[in-house]
Amino acid sequence: MEEQLLAKKILNWYDLNKRLLPWRKKVSFQKRQYYTLVSEFMLQQTQVATVIPYFNRFIKHVPSFKSLTKLQNKKLLKLWQGLGYYSRARNLKKTAQKITKSYNGNLPDNFEELLKLPGIGNYTASAILAIVFNRPYIPLDGNIERVLKRYLYLKKDYEIQKDYLQKRKTIFGFSKRSNDYAQALMELGALVCKPKNPLCLKCPISKKCASFRKRDFELNKVTKKNINKYFLIKVYKKDTKYLLIKNTRFNFLKNLRIFPMEELTKPKSFNQNFNLKMSNMNMNIEIRYFNNDKKFSPGFWIDQKKLDNYVLPSFTKKVVKYLEKN
Ligand code: SF4
Repeated sequence: MEEQLLAKKILNWYDLNKRLLPWRKKVSFQKRQYYTLVSEFMLQQTQVATVIPYFNRFIKHVPSFKSLTKLQNKKLLKLWQGLGYYSRARNLKKTAQKITKSYNGNLPDNFEELLKLPGIGNYTASAILAIVFNRPYIPLDGNIERVLKRYLYLKKDYEIQKDYLQKRKTIFGFSKRSNDYAQALMELGALVCKPKNPLCLKCPISKKCASFRKRDFELNKVTKKNINKYFLIKVYKKDTKYLLIKNTRFNFLKNLRIFPMEELTKPKSFNQNFNLKMSNMNMNIEIRYFNNDKKFSPGFWIDQKKLDNYVLPSFTKKVVKYLEKN
């Protein structure tokens, strides 16, 4: 069958070309679960090369589910600092706590149960089932999506929607080596079918690739609409120190330290000081200085001269840098 031949070619290529990534080491089943979970959480939104040193440091300090359940949040965020999207770190710890409490310290081996765990969506559940449990799942990450779009020459709007791609990925077929096959497809996208200048002459499936035949490797993306939002940042300053609060109000940067701020619905007069992008949110920001900080007392004061000593989201650091320059 054509799908089986495709899978065979991709696996043969993988066996000869795979990278030795730290989470691919041969380890016990228990560790395989932990390494896969940590790496998959870190790899959501982040490149492999960036994740490697973070993963190694994390595993060194927090070697198991059990140690993660007991890790102080401050230490957790410090280990995660620089990777961004801190909700991933908090969800990772919550998931470790839940599986320790309710699943006897092991990841559940079915899709529905995995989806109940914090921070695990369709993609991560598929990746865990394939990589840890050797189940015939193909997690559709950005790399696999690219190979699929190019191999089938999918360009039209409806063809590049997630649902459609989920259906079309069946062309990859399955292998008994599901854990290797999922990683082989990802690896093919990362190393050969690169976003720019794919290395088609090294590609094991070039013979039947529609993009290669047409010599057109352009990829179309579903365009996400940018949302314009308006915020007022309230600055309280004493000497070189700024007042921050814990964010329990906004869905972004949840529970992290930010300046006191509020969202303005329809600003009639808005003196924009600067602009920041967060995901597809375009943040228009006005800054005003205030004196009476009583309602935030005792507050959390950070010294701008010691910024690196604090675990802060880059958003907050950017605001401090803006304030110091202006
Ligand atoms: S032949 Fe080229 S475009 Fe087609 S899948 Fe391989 S690397 Fe990608």
